[in-house]
This record gives sequence, C-alpha cells and structure tokens, in this order.
Amino acid sequence: MENKKELIYFPTWTAGRKGYSERVRQVFQKHLKDKELIFTPQRSKILDYLLEADRHLSQEDIYGALKGEGIGKITVFRALKMLEECHLIERVTDSHGKPRYEVEMDRPHHDHLVCLTCGMIIEIQWPEVERIQEKVSKKIGFTIAYHRHELFGYCKECSSKRG
Ligand SMILES: [Zn+2]
Ligand SMILES: [Zn+2]
Repeated sequence: MENKKELIYFPTWTAGRKGYSERVRQVFQKHLKDKELIFTPQRSKILDYLLEADRHLSQEDIYGALKGEGIGKITVFRALKMLEECHLIERVTDSHGKPRYEVEMDRPHHDHLVCLTCGMIIEIQWPEVERIQEKVSKKIGFTIAYHRHELFGYCKECSSKRG
C-alpha cells in the first residue's frame, strides 16, 4: 500500500508544468531571504524530495530518505516549518493523527479521505459541499479564510476485507 500514488491532482496540474519547480524554489528562496536565512543544499534537497513525491509525506518519510545525505531530523523539521510558513506546503492528518505534507502551490483545492486500515490518503473535490459551507457561513456573517476537510474511514479495498 505504501507506494500507491496519492497526489492525484498533482502530476497533471502542476508537477508536469514547465518551470513549476523553479517557481516553487523562488518563493522559498525569497521567504528565506526575508527571514535572513540561507537556502542551504539541505533545504534544497528536502524541497526537491517533496516536489518529486507522489504521496503525502511525513517528516519521518523525508528524514528516512535523506538521512544518508547527512540531513538530520531537526533540519527536516525546520525546513517543513518554513515551507509551511510561506504556504508552499500544506499538512494533512494521517491515520495515526500525525501530519503529512503535500506541495500546495497552484494546486486546485481538494480535501482528503484517510483510510484507518492501510493509511491510504485519497484526494477528493466536492464542489457542492464547498458551496453549502460558503452559503451557510455567509448567512451568519462569517468569512472563511481557508478550511480543511479530513474524513477518516476505510477505503474500498479495506472495507471489502472487513466483510
Ligand atoms: Zn474543501
Ligand atoms: Zn492532498
């Protein structure tokens, strides 16, 4: 189950587009510069790993893949925090309640279904739900800045195994 592709809106919408990685890199570089931080080779490798991923990655996934290159846990933790600060990545809660990350820039809005058995995270768009929440919030004078729907349950395969 580990290697199933999860980022269904990613390859066609963004990763394949010319210059995408470069633009993501520029946003990160600018953010670091504003904070008087350096775009180190380690931070660059972490960003590359996220850009090449086809699933939602945990901090441990990234650390596990890059520790051979002398990248420590704290470095991964800090890089993720910085990438979140400049809205290049967003977090999704996994089946154990831990955060996973996906590159966010220019991707269409989507929400997530999380399988509690195999851990698979399914990306979904439901325009009707989005419309209802806008309408209801407006009615009570609430302006939504952002939202995150995370639904936990059992994917098709795991449901059928449960019988
Ligand atoms: Zn949504
Ligand atoms: Zn996602």
